[in-house]
Amino acid sequence: MDPIATVKVVTRGQWGAVASRCQETLKYPAERVVIHHTAIVHGGEFQECVGQLIHIQTMHMQDRNFDDIGYNFLIGGDGTVYEGRGWGVVGAHTKGNNHDSLGIALLGNFNNESPSPKALSSVKKILQFGVSQGYLNTRFILLGHRDLGDTLCPGERLYSSLQNIMKAHE
Ligand SMILES: [Zn+2]
Repeated sequence: MDPIATVKVVTRGQWGAVASRCQETLKYPAERVVIHHTAIVHGGEFQECVGQLIHIQTMHMQDRNFDDIGYNFLIGGDGTVYEGRGWGVVGAHTKGNNHDSLGIALLGNFNNESPSPKALSSVKKILQFGVSQGYLNTRFILLGHRDLGDTLCPGERLYSSLQNIMKAHE
């Protein structure tokens, strides 16, 4: 068993999120984690990530009328973890499945490109941290968005990496 990973999370205040309109408590421990990609090509620099987060939040709140950015966390190509809705809040990421799951999106499009080892490592760390804090069930199930809906998300390459993440979890 690895020592409990410490994960540095860039808070909403640090990336300039606007306040959510309304929040619903996610009963924890959550039973499932759903992995997404943002499907936006992405270079990985901090400033670029912040720009994308603001863009995604605006899109989710204005175009899709969500109460906030849809995901609980987002992860950049350099492995930086950004707070979306955060722990213990119901997201808007996987229609019909948001009430018992945590949604994590990797910035980028992984239909043809592979996620970076740093980003995958951050996924593992945040999951491990979630379990250690009781936010996630120790036996949580890791899924890709496509397991639950008619979508390519999180992209073929990221989807096939999920098995490796689970190996670390078992
Ligand atoms: Zn998705």
